[in-house]
Amino acid sequence: MKAHIVGGGFAGLAAAALLIRDIKTPGSDITIYEADDKLGGGFFLDGDAEHGYNVPGSIFDKEFRCALNLLETITTQRYPRINVAEEFLTFNREHPFDDLTHIVDRNLNRVHDPLRYGLTLGDGLKLAKLSLTSEASLDGQLIRDWFPQRFFDTEFWLLWSTLMGSLPQHTIIEFRRYLNRFVYLFPDLSTMAHVFRSQFNQHEAFVEPLVAWLTKNGVNFERGAFVSDLDFTNTSGRMTVNRLHVQRANGPPTVTVAPDDIVLVTTGSQAADLRAGTMDAAPPPKPPHPGRSWALWKTLAAKHKGFGDPSVFFGDDKILDSRWVTFTVTTKRQEFLDEIINLTGSGTGSGGLLTLRDSPWVISLSIFEQPEILDQPPGTYVWWGYGLHPENKGTLDQKPMNECTGKEILREILYHLGMKQGKPTTETIVSSSICIPCDMPYVNNIWLKRKRGDRPPVVPEGMTNLGLLGQYVEVERDITFTFEYSTRTAFEAIRQLKGGPPPPPVYRGQCDPGGVWKATKVFLGLTKT
Ligand SMILES: Cc1cc2nc3c(=O)[nH]c(=O)nc-3n(C[C@H](O)[C@H](O)[C@H](O)COP(=O)(O)OP(=O)(O)OC[C@H]3O[C@@H](n4cnc5c(N)ncnc54)[C@H](O)[C@@H]3O)c2cc1C
Repeated sequence: MKAHIVGGGFAGLAAAALLIRDIKTPGSDITIYEADDKLGGGFFLDGDAEHGYNVPGSIFDKEFRCALNLLETITTQRYPRINVAEEFLTFNREHPFDDLTHIVDRNLNRVHDPLRYGLTLGDGLKLAKLSLTSEASLDGQLIRDWFPQRFFDTEFWLLWSTLMGSLPQHTIIEFRRYLNRFVYLFPDLSTMAHVFRSQFNQHEAFVEPLVAWLTKNGVNFERGAFVSDLDFTNTSGRMTVNRLHVQRANGPPTVTVAPDDIVLVTTGSQAADLRAGTMDAAPPPKPPHPGRSWALWKTLAAKHKGFGDPSVFFGDDKILDSRWVTFTVTTKRQEFLDEIINLTGSGTGSGGLLTLRDSPWVISLSIFEQPEILDQPPGTYVWWGYGLHPENKGTLDQKPMNECTGKEILREILYHLGMKQGKPTTETIVSSSICIPCDMPYVNNIWLKRKRGDRPPVVPEGMTNLGLLGQYVEVERDITFTFEYSTRTAFEAIRQLKGGPPPPPVYRGQCDPGGVWKATKVFLGLTKT
């Protein structure tokens, strides 16, 4: 049996590792086809200290059961006796977030309502009702169909939406899944205790050790190889992939697939059509390969039923409700970090997010534990942030965020932190920093309105040797925008096609008395938030 894996993001890499670990597939029988020149997909690490880094930011928790199960098998590159899961859990245990100032208003006053984050008891009952409502009855409904405007004006909503990405016009289905998954986080939404992050960027923390392990096991990587189509044989409705069409610089344009081979396809990417700018240039308006990350899904869905509907998540008309613009700032001086420490009272790396509530883009900042990049030169610092509403015009340049240069974004942030243009500290920070803006038009599309069937099952009906991976495939209960979800789809595809072990069950907060009690205490005012 050979395995052909389309997509070298975490899903594809995880699938290769699970095949080796759980099915005993020799690594040399596995090929990963990745359209980009680099592996890692959404877990990217671009740039350098001289030109400015570009990283994605990071949010996890302890219940990433599939991903941690896999990463227990993978040793870290720095400490061969320590596995990646252990490194991640130990770091978070020893360095929990303690966000002392999570939200500030336009006057830089801390915004915090210690009583239920501004929610009413009625809101609590509504959330409980939603948690207990069956997902099947929520098709096509939006979050704003369930809650009044007042709910969206609360501190709770700002904390929730800046941490999780949801907006009022997004699907209630995913919101309900997040609610059940994270109910136990309620008392800590402001401090972010129990929210985890990787010790350094996800590419070096997760992707590189996994690629090193796969390489050691003989897996074949084809970078710059775009799989444009699959051919099938059809025997009485049972469909078997027998050929891949691959666009690549070297190698034949087709690859023959035997009936007992398996093909695992990543159907899309939250990093689709990503484009980075520079300190002096906004991200280019057009990506180099528009639509490439979901092109194969589109082709398959047009030819066969049971492959769902990519147009629910991708396409120009989706961008307004799914775009984020992130920025990664590389600075050679300490001044910015000192300003933030003074403002928030949280030390570098322990503060979680700082949200500038009244900035038009609703900017959130994250001051990473340093170094964020392993070979970051001493005396350099890297921090990150994003705008939840990049479509709004900024205060200084009156432009949407995706049209701004790195310098314009940096000045806007400093302005909302009270550091006006021309002041010595402001100018020192600007001249010693490189801010790389990154336009991600589809990063938040996992929240778009959907109904059952829009995401295909991991193994679409009738397929004998094809499994689907990633964020745009349906698995019960779990939440997207997570590498946990990608890993779970890999587990499921291999289980269904090759009889691998089942994935660890999804944590269900609504069935965990400890988790429910934590949230209840918040609503009864018994917990200091
Ligand atoms: C900015 C950002 C921040 C994130 N933060 C977090 C976080 O903190 N925690 C978390 O758990 N998750 C986070 N995510 C989600 C993260 O992307 C996923 O967790 C995980 O990396 C997804 O892996 P994947 O393989 O499913 O998809 P991707 O990583 O998107 O990889 C898919 C890959 O498939 C390739 N591909 C697609 N079609 C083809 C084709 N036809 N031929 C060849 N190659 C193809 C693409 O080029 C891409 O490299 C974040 C994502 C982004 C973009």
